[in-house]
Amino acid sequence: MYGTYIHVRTMYIASNDRRGLRVYARPMSTPTIAPTGGPTLAQERVLRTAIPGPRSQELLDRKAAAIAAGVGHTVPIAAVAAGGGVVVDADGNSLIDLGSGIAVTTVGNADPKVVAAVQQQVAQFTHTCFMIAPYEGYVEVCEALNRLTPGDHEKKSALFNSGAEAVENAIKVARKYTGRRAVVAFDHAYHGRTNLTMGLTAKAMPYKSGFGPFASEIYRVPASYPYRDGLSGAEAAERAIGIMEKQIGGDQLAAVIIEPIQGEGGFIVPADGFLPRIAQWCTDNGVVFIADEVQSGFARTGAMFASELLGVVPDVVTTAKGIAGGLPLAAITGRAEIMDASHAGGLGGTYGGNPVACAAAIAALDAFENDGLIERAQQIGDRISAAFSKAQLSDPRIGEIRGRGAMMAVEFVDPATGAPDAALTAAVAKAAIAEGVIVLTCGTYGNVVRFLPPLSIADHLLDEGLGVVLAALAAA
Ligand SMILES: *Cc1c(COP(=O)(O)O)cnc(C)c1O
Repeated sequence: MYGTYIHVRTMYIASNDRRGLRVYARPMSTPTIAPTGGPTLAQERVLRTAIPGPRSQELLDRKAAAIAAGVGHTVPIAAVAAGGGVVVDADGNSLIDLGSGIAVTTVGNADPKVVAAVQQQVAQFTHTCFMIAPYEGYVEVCEALNRLTPGDHEKKSALFNSGAEAVENAIKVARKYTGRRAVVAFDHAYHGRTNLTMGLTAKAMPYKSGFGPFASEIYRVPASYPYRDGLSGAEAAERAIGIMEKQIGGDQLAAVIIEPIQGEGGFIVPADGFLPRIAQWCTDNGVVFIADEVQSGFARTGAMFASELLGVVPDVVTTAKGIAGGLPLAAITGRAEIMDASHAGGLGGTYGGNPVACAAAIAALDAFENDGLIERAQQIGDRISAAFSKAQLSDPRIGEIRGRGAMMAVEFVDPATGAPDAALTAAVAKAAIAEGVIVLTCGTYGNVVRFLPPLSIADHLLDEGLGVVLAALAAA
């Protein structure tokens, strides 16, 4: 089946028409025959060429010539199909997917329910602009979010296109509701790449360096990082609250935004009691507590939302990534009085809550609620921690194994000093990718390998993928 590809060459011939304007004709087009994605794709790791193979390399050359250098890539392949637990490339290699396109294809890539919903919607209508002519899909997604997000208070939602846009809008509603301006974000935070969200993000390289100036009235306070700071949740919370009170003042603060489990920062799970104490302080001071669940939401952590595991009910929750099985959609969901504080027309965007993305989200949300995915995420987490806990007994470079559910990570250190070992981490990830296993790294210190497999991955693929990573570690 892999031998049947015919590579498409998109060659346009340019000439001038009678008015002297450039016109372009595509002289020939050959159909691409690629395997259909989704769970029926053969669930196996297959290496037919080195990675990248020649066809992938051809695309990467075109990428280098056509695409801004700032847009990087982790896995040097040309993807042509994906599903279950694999990504297939143009050379017929089939890679085990332990990254889900950064926690996006949680229900699986090209999941059949999502595909069917999208196909039906795309043939019905593709866009009206919800702010011009509303439609049911948008309302249905918001009703589901109001039901599924933590807390039984009255909630309202609004839809956008990306996680960064959701974060921007969460800050907007918090400022409007409180009439205050200051916002607190934490060490190790990641909230996006737009101007405001770069300002909220902690790490300079690669996210912020040279891209300022950043928005004003953003303050950073220390988070809870038990492996490195050794503080209890209460101690870490007092440290953060002390800074907020002394350096900003509770009555000046519109919002505190935090990822319940910090994602790009290193899958850092705060010490017990840290988040509840911060959330309580926010309530006591009239500050909107925003949980950024863009990465941790939707069954990923073995709960519908990580906030539930960490014992907090946020005032506003931001979501995106896993929400729509790979289509771009994002949301904010929050207390009705906060969400309703904005004047009509104050929130929105041309594409926000696009009907095709909403149809995909309705199918994905149904899967999260009814297909046992929360349990599946827990099983996946147990398998990952078991594999690495066993290895840790004889390998002190494994500093910590942490995370929840299918959002697990391993922090690599120099055993002698405990210092972060970014070089080892990069070497392990690179070797695993060369062996056909997609793994991602993260962490403020670049020394964390993270596992975010699609919940549709089969056990045999997960085990094989983890085995490849462990072998890469042993060889490094
Ligand atoms: C990915 C991410 C974002 C940004 O989402 P985009 O869709 O890339 O804009 C924001 N917050 C968190 C926690 C994320 O992981």
